[in-house]
Amino acid sequence: ELSAIAAPLMAEDDLLGCLYVGSPSPEAFSEADVNLIQTIASQAALALKNARLMDQTRQQALTDGLTGLYTHRFFKEQLKLQVDDARRSGKPACLILLDTDKFKQYNDTLGHPAGDALLKEIADILRESVRPNDVVCRQGGDEFAIIMRESPKEWGVDVGQRIRETFELRFAERQVRVTASIGVSCFPSDALGFSDLVQHADEALYRAKDTGRNRVCVAPSLKESSDA
Ligand code: GH3
Ligand code: MG
Repeated sequence: ELSAIAAPLMAEDDLLGCLYVGSPSPEAFSEADVNLIQTIASQAALALKNARLMDQTRQQALTDGLTGLYTHRFFKEQLKLQVDDARRSGKPACLILLDTDKFKQYNDTLGHPAGDALLKEIADILRESVRPNDVVCRQGGDEFAIIMRESPKEWGVDVGQRIRETFELRFAERQVRVTASIGVSCFPSDALGFSDLVQHADEALYRAKDTGRNRVCVAPSLKESSDA
């Protein structure tokens, strides 16, 4: 190129890129061309900045500020997608729901900031217990959920057990020994769709709480339920 116009893509104080127009002819551009490119550059910068802000806002709505895990809103979107996917591919998917035991007592004894720190530790345990493309969410308070894609029921139960054991070992020496109550259900063996998959995992979690906490309970398969 023998002549060129380069206009920075500036939005407020951020430099987002550069708009470059070149020509093989010398002195190809007029003052009007320069003005036009500048106008396009400033509008493009504004559009880019807005798109990034939208992304950021969406990201904030989908991730929990304290733990960095996905939120309940993302969980619902994802679980629907994963169930549809499992239906199409014929590969099962598992749902693990977890509620921390004695969390209120931990908060009351050690203080709210220590409770926050514990929630972050729990988030790390959960992230480390699953594969990178499994979805780990904070449902709210001391409740968490994991969606395990392409996983048979045994895998979901194994992961649930491993998490329960990790809690038991990791928190054994704390002043308040928090443990985990866990419910597991699997699609398609235990549920016909998204909402009863959640319901059945929730019922299993409730059973874990009700029968003494610090345990994993598993949803009955649809076949077991219909036989009973
Ligand atoms: P259970 O064994 O029946 O699950 O009882 P629990 O003591 O774990 O208490 P529960 O699950 O009913 O209540 C959870 C508590 O978590 C209540 C609330 O004050 C506290 N909590 C909720 N969100 C936060 C948070 O972001 N930070 C802290 N530190 N505490 C929270
Ligand atoms: Mg709890």
